[in-house]
Amino acid sequence: MSCAGHLTIDLGALQNNWRALKARVGEACDCAAVVKANAYGLGVDHVVPALSAAGAGTFFVATPEEGQEVRALVPDAPIYVLSGVFTGRLALYDDAALRPILGHPDEISEWARFCEAKGETLPAGLHIDTGMNRLGLTHAQAEALANDSQLLRAFDLTLVMSHLACADDRDSPLNRQQLAAFERGSALFPGVPRSLANSSGVFLGADYHFELVRPGIALYGGNPTPKAATPMRCVATIEAEVIHLRDVSPGEAVGYGATRTAERPTRIATVNVGYADGMHRLVGSTDERDGAFASVGGIRCPLFGRVSMDMLAIDVTDVPEGTVVRGSRVEVMGPTISVDELAEAALTIPYELLTALGARYKRSYIGYTQNGEDALTHG
Ligand SMILES: *Cc1c(COP(=O)(O)O)cnc(C)c1O
Repeated sequence: MSCAGHLTIDLGALQNNWRALKARVGEACDCAAVVKANAYGLGVDHVVPALSAAGAGTFFVATPEEGQEVRALVPDAPIYVLSGVFTGRLALYDDAALRPILGHPDEISEWARFCEAKGETLPAGLHIDTGMNRLGLTHAQAEALANDSQLLRAFDLTLVMSHLACADDRDSPLNRQQLAAFERGSALFPGVPRSLANSSGVFLGADYHFELVRPGIALYGGNPTPKAATPMRCVATIEAEVIHLRDVSPGEAVGYGATRTAERPTRIATVNVGYADGMHRLVGSTDERDGAFASVGGIRCPLFGRVSMDMLAIDVTDVPEGTVVRGSRVEVMGPTISVDELAEAALTIPYELLTALGARYKRSYIGYTQNGEDALTHG
């Protein structure tokens, strides 16, 4: 296995993030964990047991195959499949006791027929669309279901949910509109637990919490309140290794396309992570556009020129002589260069960055505690 830098995943920080979100929503509200896409790229095998130990009791995945993987880790927890029912794969849900989130009348009929054939009322959630227009029943379809007592009796409705389109923007008027629509839609199914909030939704206020919240990115260290300082702890850190150092004269360019020219005598450190490791090419720089920074010996140093497949270049001129040598580790993402900052430099979001982390990293999982207590604050 090639090694392209070190990816350290702090399970203690992950557990701490879950506990912080749980504290925020209070005793009466369940705090689930969204672990789709291999726990946002960080590894379900480690993430799910850590979250479970911290207290998370309900999990959300995208597909039934992901659900099977999570089921092997948490034998008893409810696992919801957000993308709903996939035709022809119903047996998977039954085998792993997965609950589809039904978001279309056809899915509801399919699940009801499956339950009838089995002679069991299997649990499922219901997605009511409130303005995102991606998945979910229209209000009229939800009303039709609510009035069809025979269909409703065919399965066990355990959750009514919707999804916010603009929760990361506190000022978006769509938040209040979706909240009102969700209150109206979920009222059609009295007594069924309700869920509206993703990570950012948790921070919109208590009226968005209902009986269950579904954070994902905030658990993994992404800032759920993008305009304010992050309330979350850093979970994933990428350190690259300096494999080459060289001095470049003013007027010389660095990297493919010669897109960035040295304006001063410049010391370049070439490190061993590149776009094959998920370092988006937009984090590189040109003479016209700055890119991301790396933290070298505690000093923020700009990425210089294009990102290559297996490496990228950093301007370490401002780092005191001798601090950075071949073999030195530099932080490309972590406590200093946050996943949010790196994503912004790549004109993307932390979600895409984390889920694009390549397979070549040497991964280390640190900080796990059995009861999810924060080892640091408890000495
Ligand atoms: C991915 C997802 C979440 C989690 O969203 P975050 O913004 O990562 O907290 C919650 N609900 C649904 C329906 C999702 O698809």
